[in-house]
Amino acid sequence: MTQIIDGKAISAAIKDELKAEVESLKGEGTQICLAVIQVGNDPASAVYVGNKKKACAYIGIDSLAYELPEETTQEELLKLIAELNDKGEVNGILVQLPLPDHIDEDEVIRAIDPKKDVDGFHPQSVGALCIGQPGFVSCTPAGIIQLLKRSGIEIAGKECVVIGRSNIVGKPMALLLLRENGTVTVAHSKTKNLQEITKRADILVVAVGRPKMITREYVKEGAVVIDVGIHRNENNKLCGDVDYDDVAPICSAITPVPGGVGPMTIAMLMHNCVEAGTRR
Ligand code: NDP
Repeated sequence: MTQIIDGKAISAAIKDELKAEVESLKGEGTQICLAVIQVGNDPASAVYVGNKKKACAYIGIDSLAYELPEETTQEELLKLIAELNDKGEVNGILVQLPLPDHIDEDEVIRAIDPKKDVDGFHPQSVGALCIGQPGFVSCTPAGIIQLLKRSGIEIAGKECVVIGRSNIVGKPMALLLLRENGTVTVAHSKTKNLQEITKRADILVVAVGRPKMITREYVKEGAVVIDVGIHRNENNKLCGDVDYDDVAPICSAITPVPGGVGPMTIAMLMHNCVEAGTRR
């Protein structure tokens, strides 16, 4: 029987654990606060920002919302980040991506104090992950490690294949699996014989950004399949990078879309905020 990895239930459990931790921190006089900056009015970003505010409210984290107009300049945004870096009561700073084209995303990410970089995108956070030092980890891959661990799936010694090498998913995912003692291969658009490589995987993480690309021809019987993709199909229904109906019957465990990896991202953001507060 295929195990359906329930990201909704696991993320709810993490949020409840964090809620209890925040409550006890409050008792010790520590209040955690996340500043969320959104530039422009991209509707998808507005939904993500709204969900982050809701999660903060549920857990008991204060959230400060900065909704800046589309025409905000790079200098104005950097000035706001500098102010938030200096504000003792702000523990985490999150700039919702993507930013408008006239703003240099890399420079904005670099401007965030690494101690407040709850998205884990700052080069210092990424470097720390790479050399095994403490630092914030990108939320989606960190959430996937939690999904695996809390579903009783062993990573050490397993053949792990990650499809995708983006800075926010693929690369940190590979580093985290390595940290958990997996044997890791990263595939990308220039990879030759992709099916041959993915068929070796005991744990296959798919972050390719192509709806339903991964069919059972790519998957070893009994593998664990983690689907990071989120797309809307022709009927406006959500689907992933994996052809779930085709793949689920042959694997030992799989994440559905929706309800798999998606809910974990916000849970891990909340985790990083609490960590930022306790590190202080
Ligand atoms: P990117 O588009 O940044 O990266 C896609 C990666 O897949 C690239 O490394 C690319 O290779 C590789 N790739 C593309 N086509 C192929 C192919 N035919 N064969 C092998 N590799 C290929 O995407 P992200 O990493 O940002 O996101 C991946 C997916 O995850 C998307 O569907 C996104 O919506 C979703 N997502 C979901 C999140 C969640 O919370 N659940 C959070 C973040 C993303 P190359 O580097 O060579 O171009």
